[in-house]
Parts: sequence; structure tokens; C-alpha cells
Amino acid sequence: MEVGYVISQLKEFFDLYYKQKISSFNDEILNIDYKEISEFDIELTNYLDNNPIEIQKLFSIAFEDFFKDFDKQVPYICLINLPKDIDKVINKIRKEDMNKLISIRGIIQSRSSVNANITGIKFECPSCGNIICVTQEDELKEPSRCVCGRKGKFRILKKEFEDILFLKIEELPERLNPVESAGSIPIILRKKLCNKDYNFYLGCRIEFIGYITERIRYQRNKKTTICDYVFEANSYNILDYVDFETEITKEEQELYEDIKQHNNPALLISRFIFSGIVGCSRAKQALIYQQFCGKMFNGYRDYIHILLYGMPGTAKTDLAIRVSKINPICKVTSGPDISKVGFTAMVEKDELSGKFVMKAGLLPRCSGGLAVIDEMEKAPEQSISGLHTPMEQGFLGMEKAGISAKIVAETSITATANPKSVEKTSESVGNFKKVSLENCNLPLPILDRFDLIFTFNDHPDTKKDEMIAKKIIYRNSFDSFEDTFEGNENTLSQNQNTFQLKEDTFWHKGNTFHISTLRKYIYLCKKVNPKLSIRVEKTISTWYVNLRQASTFIGYENKRPTPRVVESILRLARAIARSKQKDIVSQKELEMAISYYDFIYDTDNIKNPQVVNVED
Ligand SMILES: [Zn+2]
Repeated sequence: MEVGYVISQLKEFFDLYYKQKISSFNDEILNIDYKEISEFDIELTNYLDNNPIEIQKLFSIAFEDFFKDFDKQVPYICLINLPKDIDKVINKIRKEDMNKLISIRGIIQSRSSVNANITGIKFECPSCGNIICVTQEDELKEPSRCVCGRKGKFRILKKEFEDILFLKIEELPERLNPVESAGSIPIILRKKLCNKDYNFYLGCRIEFIGYITERIRYQRNKKTTICDYVFEANSYNILDYVDFETEITKEEQELYEDIKQHNNPALLISRFIFSGIVGCSRAKQALIYQQFCGKMFNGYRDYIHILLYGMPGTAKTDLAIRVSKINPICKVTSGPDISKVGFTAMVEKDELSGKFVMKAGLLPRCSGGLAVIDEMEKAPEQSISGLHTPMEQGFLGMEKAGISAKIVAETSITATANPKSVEKTSESVGNFKKVSLENCNLPLPILDRFDLIFTFNDHPDTKKDEMIAKKIIYRNSFDSFEDTFEGNENTLSQNQNTFQLKEDTFWHKGNTFHISTLRKYIYLCKKVNPKLSIRVEKTISTWYVNLRQASTFIGYENKRPTPRVVESILRLARAIARSKQKDIVSQKELEMAISYYDFIYDTDNIKNPQVVNVED
């Protein structure tokens, strides 16, 4: 297809579909429907697919006369309604994808401020007065010579500018399998696309349509033959966080029905993923329900934070890592490893633009999902105190080095922490070593943000130790074994139908499943937004009033609940309802959530009302 023909076809297309809209059109951006173009002339879209660099220029030449009639300039053209098959996973971008119209999706990892970029310079020759225009790209260029023979020292008459913005996006975690690490790519936005730059906050989920081009890599100020991929954006769409499409097999559908219908779905799932770990069944269930949490709800957070606190050598880390595998949006780090970017964000010099950019830390990078922080007390103090706002509000504003950025971090946290010193601070009663929260090395305002704190004590228990030893032996001798150690909540018949095979697979009613099957289920559940029934609202307020009354008795002063406890319980109840894909939180889910908290008031050794004690 010749360029001249393309332009004349575009003119005809515009005349047919868009001309009548011009008189009332006053926007800076005009959306053109790709599907309409392809219906009009499929050869035209074929041409655009293979020549995306020319899109702005072609449309602006073709549409110029139409807009001129109304004394208007051609707006910036955004293509919308593109076919799904142009979608590319960032990790799989190869040289064949360059300079073709494609779309990519990801989470914004870093962003610059909006800058001016020189696109062209008009030079005047001081010898003969000739005017020479030079298009600018990458590095500043002067004319090499004038027609009169003069070389160099030309006078600059005028510079042309455009707005430019640099972003970097990272692949959506749910589109990767758990062992893949997320690829990232720099994005360049130009002209009118920079205008609504408040849309580009760190942690934002976004789709870009455009093309991949290359930037030559420099080494010691010299050009090398190695190129980095860069994405030139034509248009973008802000994504909802549950738009991941997935196929479900018949076997998976049956499994999902069983989970949904189960009285306590977390108990069932816990057999799929935790059967190698003895005991701590409440912590296991709470961790599973945490994965079913939402984001923000009516301006309040709808995701919960769990702290696993106790002696080294207890199963804390193992529990946290295992549960992370079933969350479709998840990142794992450990306190000592947390980089200088930290949990929220920091300013960094960008390789591509040489400008300072705001770079996202752990929480925004898994917004809508889970961040696991192992040995949290070993993270730098500054990083920990930075958690205060995002843990409660889900977003924060940051201003550093002249860049201000909104950061979204609607992220559940599962953290583990060890006591300051086991020997000195734990209270020893015979062989029993008990940990107290007072010996936790985390600041109080952060401890306060955790909805549930499970403490892990280490004490010899013949029956339990025997089970642990047996499990380890079984684990090393067979590929599979039946989970018959879960305690009295399990019946033998259930166990024969369901158990964990290896670390990442499990067996249920004759079928073997990979753990990623559960990620899919959780993703589906996250689309449900359960509401409270009137009866539930009444029950929770009665429960709270009664508990406040009870706490006035002497000896219970430190256990007095705050309204925060009510919020935590409702979050948990909503998560339980979501795990059954229920639209309404019923009495049953509320009672289950309350049971975690009632447990506290039956134990003597915990002072904080938000703490659930596990006597394992
Ligand atoms: Zn000249």
C-alpha cells in the first residue's frame, strides 16, 4: 500500500465516520476506533499494524483539511478498541516485535516529571541567510553544511518543543507463573498524552498501545551495538485489577465448587498447601483468608495485615512463603534484603532519560495482593516507619527531588518477626519458653496496624514433636502421604480425599492439581464484593458493646477493645464470605471471624486485644 493511497483512504474514512463530530469537538485528544477502520478497509489497518511510527503523521495530514474548515488544529490521535491478539507479555518481547503495533500491560514502577523535549531547530546561515531545519532525535544535531559552502557556527533561530514523560512498567504478577520474575520496559509518552499525568501513579495498573523501538546502550560514553527496548506509547487504558481472563477446566470447576460449598474453605485449602507443617491451624486459616481480601472499600481498607511473631525455628517463615504461592499478586522479601527503594518509593536517576524519577518499592508493586516480609525487624528503621500510612490508607503522596508522586499500595502484609533476644527476654517456666510482644523489635504504631498477631512459642511437647518427626520422615521417603495429623477438626474420610502431594501440587478426589489452580480461584473470588446483612451489623455492635462492658472488670483493663477490632473483624468476615463467593456476609461468616478474637479473651498471657494466641 502506497503512502499516498493510505492518506486518501484515511480521508474517506474520516469523511464517513467522524466528519460530523468536528463542529462540536473541542478536546486535545481524538479517539479513533481501530475496529471501524478495519471494517472500512482491512488493508488500511494492516498498513498501520506494520508502520505504527507513522500513525500521528498520517492522520494529521489526512485530517488537516477537515479541521481547517472549522479553524481547528488536528488533535492528538489515540487508537482505541484494538484486537486482543496484539497483546504482548513484557518478558516475551523479541526483535520480531519491534516497530509493530502492539499492546503491553503492567504496573507503573517508576515515573519522571513532565519535561520539554526539543524536536526540531531552525538554523540560519550567517554567510548567506539561508534557513535550515534540522529534526532532533536522541542527541542535538547541527547542519553539516550550507548550500553556500559554509560549515558550522550556524545561528539558532527557533526551537520546537514537545512535552515528554518517562515511565517504567513491570509485567502484571498474575500473568506470570510463580517462578518467573517480572520483566519491565521503559515507556515514552509524548505531547498530549502527558497532559493527564496524574493518571500515572506508582502502583497503577495500565495498558499501553504503541510500538517497540530501540535505544543504543552507551559504555564509557561510547555507543555499543547493544540496544535496549523502549516502548513509544500511542494511547493507554487504566486497568481494573481483576480483568485477568483465564480458562477453567472441568476438574478445576469441580474443585472450586467443593471449596465454595465447604463450611470452612480455609480448612480445606490448608490441607492442600500446609499439610507438611504440624499444628498452628488458626494461623494457617487466617493466612488463607487473608488472600481473599479486597482493596479499598467505601474509603476504608478491606485488606488485612498478619504478623507471625515468635521463636526462630518455629514454622513462621514456612507458613508465609507457602501461602504467598496461592496469591496471584504477590512479592516476597526479607527485612535484611530490603533495598534502598524500601517498602514505598524513592527517587532514583533513570538510565534512559538521565532524569530523576520516582521508583516504586515493594508495596505498590503488588498492590491488590500480598507482600511477604520475612524477619521484618531487621529492615532499616526508616523503611519500617514508612509503612505507617500505606498500611492504613492504601495510598500516600511523596515529594522528593522536585518530583511529587501519588503511590497506591492497597497491599496486604504478612510479616514474620523474631523477639529481640530469645535467652534474655523470654520468660522461662521449666522447659517452656514463652515470647512476649513487649520484646518485639517493631515500633508500636506499626504493631498496631496488624489486624492479627499470632505468637509462636517453642516448647517440648511429646505428642507434637513426634508428629513433626514423622512428617519429616514421610516427606523424605514418599512423594505423598496422607495428612492425618491435622488435629480433631479433620475427619478421616476427608483426609483420604484430599492432601498435599509435593510442595506445589495437591490431590483432591482423584485429581492432581498445581498450586496455581488456587491462584485462579482466588482471582475469581476477588471479583465478589460482599455486603453486610442487617443482622450482621446488629450482632457485631452487640458483641462490641458486651466486650467493652466485660473489660471494665478489674484485671481486664489492658484487654479493652478499640473500634479498630470491629473493623478488623469485618474485614475478615468479608474475606471469609468472598472465599465462598457470597455477595452477603451472613451470621455464619461473622461468627467465624469473631471466633478468632474470642480466642484472645480466653487466654491470660496476651495483653493486646488484637492478638490471637496460638498454643502450639
Ligand atoms: Zn549559507
